[in-house]
Amino acid sequence: KLSERLKTIASFLPKGTVFADIGSDHAYLPCFVCLQDKTAKAIAGEVNEGPFNSAKDTVATCNLTSVIEVRLGNGLQVINEKDEIKQLVIAGMGGALIRMILEEGKKKLSSVQRIIAQPNVDARSVRKWLIEHRFMITNEAIIEESGHIYEIIVADKINIINPDNEDISEKQLLFGPLLMENKPKAFYSKWKLEYEKLQHVIEQMKKAKKVNEEKIIRYEFELQLIREVIE
Ligand code: SAM
Repeated sequence: KLSERLKTIASFLPKGTVFADIGSDHAYLPCFVCLQDKTAKAIAGEVNEGPFNSAKDTVATCNLTSVIEVRLGNGLQVINEKDEIKQLVIAGMGGALIRMILEEGKKKLSSVQRIIAQPNVDARSVRKWLIEHRFMITNEAIIEESGHIYEIIVADKINIINPDNEDISEKQLLFGPLLMENKPKAFYSKWKLEYEKLQHVIEQMKKAKKVNEEKIIRYEFELQLIREVIE
């Protein structure tokens, strides 16, 4: 049974998708998608040998070797122009790593129309990279599952330069432009938790021998932003 998190990601792939799932681990997502949609095709990329072998096993067990290719390699190195990848999924990693994979592989994105990212932490840096590279955030989801809260960002390529896209506030980057408008239940849960964590961090920092004033000021600013959004 697939997690709600991966099901939600799958719901953002159109019928007939040709997608790459980078850091696919067991390849559960591409197998779920290709079992449901006989016209879908996928590449599952993995940098580590263990998950690469697990992915190959799942694909073989599901009889999907003709539609899902499992490739070993770092980030977007596993995709080529002739794959004509239309959608790209990078899920279950930190935001900084997702951003690095996108940045290092940006030459591989010419055919990509949609990027679906699910950063475990630091969604802000993923949003920032996306809008700076002509991807517009068109959908966002936040879900609570097994004691964790996950954010999913959907961004679509824009072909003409749209100054409005890059005109995004600090708040929108941090909270998500659509999430902060719709404020689903899990959004409140997430930011209440982050607020408490940050308060604790600040308290500890104030007790330290060498007080890092600059960082404290930044964190206190973030606390204020969170208050404004959840109150
Ligand atoms: N995407 C799946 C999901 O969301 O359930 C699996 C997430 S798993 C926690 C992260 C996977 O990313 C691991 O299997 C890891 O080997 C892989 N990974 C980490 N860095 C990578 C990179 N630079 N390129 C490809 N895969 C990577």
